[in-house]
Amino acid sequence: MTAMLDSSATTRPVSRQTFDEVIVPTYAPAAMILVRGKGLELWDQDDKRYLDFTSGIAVSALGHCPDAVVHALTEQAHKVWHLSNAYTNEQVLRLGLALTEATFADRAFFCNSGAEANEAALKLARKYGHEKFGAHKSRIVSCLSSFHGRTLFTVSVGGQPKYTEGFEPLPPNIDHIKYNDIESARAAIGDDVCAVIVEPIQGEGGVIPGDTAFLKELRALCDKTGALLIFDEVQSGVGRTGALYAYMNHGVTPDILTSAKALGNGYPIGAMLTTNDIAKHFGVGSHGTTYGGNPLAATVALKVIETVNQPAFLARVREAADKIVANLRKLKADYPEVFGEPRNAGLLIGLPLADAYKGRAKDFTKAAEALGLMLLVAGPDVIRMAPALVVTDEQIAEADALLRKAIDAVLAPASAK
Ligand SMILES: *Cc1c(COP(=O)(O)O)cnc(C)c1O
Repeated sequence: MTAMLDSSATTRPVSRQTFDEVIVPTYAPAAMILVRGKGLELWDQDDKRYLDFTSGIAVSALGHCPDAVVHALTEQAHKVWHLSNAYTNEQVLRLGLALTEATFADRAFFCNSGAEANEAALKLARKYGHEKFGAHKSRIVSCLSSFHGRTLFTVSVGGQPKYTEGFEPLPPNIDHIKYNDIESARAAIGDDVCAVIVEPIQGEGGVIPGDTAFLKELRALCDKTGALLIFDEVQSGVGRTGALYAYMNHGVTPDILTSAKALGNGYPIGAMLTTNDIAKHFGVGSHGTTYGGNPLAATVALKVIETVNQPAFLARVREAADKIVANLRKLKADYPEVFGEPRNAGLLIGLPLADAYKGRAKDFTKAAEALGLMLLVAGPDVIRMAPALVVTDEQIAEADALLRKAIDAVLAPASAK
């Protein structure tokens, strides 16, 4: 590469092939390149239209390029983009007020991603344990199949060994228990535990809703041992489950909550929320990040929270979820040999495959994509839907029709034999 960029570098044609040439191969993206979006619709380089039931993995909760957010972001872009953390800014203060007024929390720490929010939560729990009880209180308890991000600490806390293989040595003093298993929680959470981290609904792990009884038991065990209860709401937060945060559905209040994904609707931001008592263990200089609380990100997040945290908005999320799940129940009844029972928390929805089709979730999402419907998987055995929270009844009906066509396309070669 020469030092001087060709004058056409920003405008020359690029294709999926370019990805294979210049991007570190940590992903295997789809063949099309999406160039613009509005609401739940996206268009690729050939102007083919897609109905997006992924929201970029539960990120674009208000859909693509929502007018109110574009307006706020553009306005802020003309004022100031960045100040170091040696200065605060009005936007981050307003966002801090909005989040603490809307939740159990008294304090917010801002960063740029879900992994960073969890990293902050886990570091804070260690610091709290050290300062309040002593260095022995350092064990972290997490769940099998959980996902908490890709930094070395968060990937070690996550319960999916395939993501830590080859990255050893890993941070020590981390134990994993079975999700929704009260007995294994009781056995693992002792006096040396500083934090228990859990997703109120496991997203990446297969869309597994947490049992209220399990989450309540974690709360009780944390109260008994002095451990902090961390809810990772990176995927479940910001209206996805029909409540602003999923903990509100269970009546179980964590000590620390992490949020990201939908918080920025696609503009990178993460947040860690906690109480005064815990926050004081992160003194000046103990943690930080250059971009955390950046005015652009804070402007977007504030607009998102103001929009989502309205009773009518959240009621519609629950209504839309009920409609999609009703469609999936019919689908399961029509194809009992292909699907299991759909499961969900609001608009985070999983459709598991029956035994005969285990391992083939990608076949279904690929067939849907060819027909113009974007879906997610959650592991090899579960089709996942996470449409924008503003999904309309018409879009729900369109997705149902496209998914049925996709299923027929997958099953066709088999039944033709
Ligand atoms: C996506 C996700 C993360 C990681 O967020 P990043 O922004 O990718 O770092 C952490 N926890 C959960 C539950 C997630 O779904």
